[in-house]
Amino acid sequence: MRIVNPADGSLVAALDEDSPQEIAGKYARARAAQPAWAARPIEHRLAAIRRFKALVKERAAELAGTLTREMGKPIAQSRAELSALDERLEFFLEHTGRALAPEDVLDRKGMLERITHEPLGVIANVSAWNYPYFVGANVFVPALLAGNAVLYKPSELASQTGLAIGEMMRDAGVPEDVFSVVTGAGAAGAALVAQPVDGVFFTGSYATGVRIAAACAARMVKLQLELGGKDPVYVCEDANPKTAAGSLADGAMYNAGQSCCAVERIYVHASLHDRFVEEFARTVRGYRIGDPMDEATYLGPLARAAQLEVLERQVADALAKGGRVLTGGKRIARPGNWFEPTVLANADHLMALMREESFGPVIGIQKVAGDDEAIALMNDTEYGLTAGVYTPDERRARAILARVRSGSAYWNCCDRVSPRLPWSGIGHSGVGLTLSTYGIQAFARPRGWHLKSQSR
Ligand code: NAD
Repeated sequence: MRIVNPADGSLVAALDEDSPQEIAGKYARARAAQPAWAARPIEHRLAAIRRFKALVKERAAELAGTLTREMGKPIAQSRAELSALDERLEFFLEHTGRALAPEDVLDRKGMLERITHEPLGVIANVSAWNYPYFVGANVFVPALLAGNAVLYKPSELASQTGLAIGEMMRDAGVPEDVFSVVTGAGAAGAALVAQPVDGVFFTGSYATGVRIAAACAARMVKLQLELGGKDPVYVCEDANPKTAAGSLADGAMYNAGQSCCAVERIYVHASLHDRFVEEFARTVRGYRIGDPMDEATYLGPLARAAQLEVLERQVADALAKGGRVLTGGKRIARPGNWFEPTVLANADHLMALMREESFGPVIGIQKVAGDDEAIALMNDTEYGLTAGVYTPDERRARAILARVRSGSAYWNCCDRVSPRLPWSGIGHSGVGLTLSTYGIQAFARPRGWHLKSQSR
């Protein structure tokens, strides 16, 4: 498997992909190792994750470089992901003990009713490349703390990051067979999901999610799918156009738009529209594009070459249907996977741009007459990951968001994930959830105990 730097097409490394036999071997060793891991007191598992957290911190500069070289994220953003990981790990360390503690729900006349949180067993974690530390840790950290063994397959576009995570887990004292890294692309993912695991936790596209759900259907295992989005934002007429434009341009373009919760479509009240659009385009034109290893770079290349065609197709389709390019609109002619940050006004729902996930630095803006039209358009999607409203009027924002279907709701902010809040999607954005104490309990099976004392 060749790891290619998306910034210039150069070879970063060549790695061996795990064969189906190797994956079956890793599964068998994980199955054998899991009971002893689950039998350890939770303090031991917490201590291992605490050491993992310290190792990530120690190696942050080097890890950020590895991530940038293999998937093109600007170095300052790679470092930001690693430093925010620290807070996320701290959340799990602080809350897992309580979230998984046994709970007595009735103790009366010799009858005790108790809930315990049992590990699922061996789980498969097939992951994405865009925020490999975040989306990986959301799964494997609470899974390990709950007493599961984890077979972790990082994306083929973040393999070196995945292998580094494996090394740090081992150095932190998690036995190799309790956390093993499976290397490879789609075929390795499919071979992993085919193992008789107790749970499958996937982060990635809707298309792959459908394949994984089908592969698991007959086995009745716990399945979580964190998929894509087409996240809408509505800018009301009373919003500050400059502040809203600055915030939303960042939400659309950060990490070159390759965030599951990136702003993917914007609706602006007609009376603010022109001022907002002008500010938005000005902000985007000011973004510094260039070598992702350069500290000052805001926009780097796309991780996947194939996505360039998707963006080109979306832009051409929008132009054919009356869209207007305010800035950008095409590939940047240099080696690697480069696309100009692109803003299209005059967008509407006949355009693929407003319906299909772009997952790149391309955004459509549509003018709306008022709240009802904005809400109808925001809900006109198969996805439902996040949705946002910009207005100084909190009551109005709440009323609008109450009518929009999404896993997360944002008022005057966007492209934001908190370890304290559940992360989930509706429709094609997936099933299940991570983060928050619910996202810790997702890795355990609540068991009901009916305990009747003989003596009474
Ligand atoms: P992808 O679906 O192409 O790949 C995801 C993973 O699945 C990779 O590890 C890949 O090797 C593996 N895979 C591919 N085919 C497989 C198969 N048949 N069986 C098993 N595994 C297989 O997605 P991606 O390009 O890595 O990630 C981008 C997508 O992920 C976007 O749609 C984005 O919105 C979504 N995403 C969602 C969240 C969330 O929390 N909801 C977070 C990050 C990314």
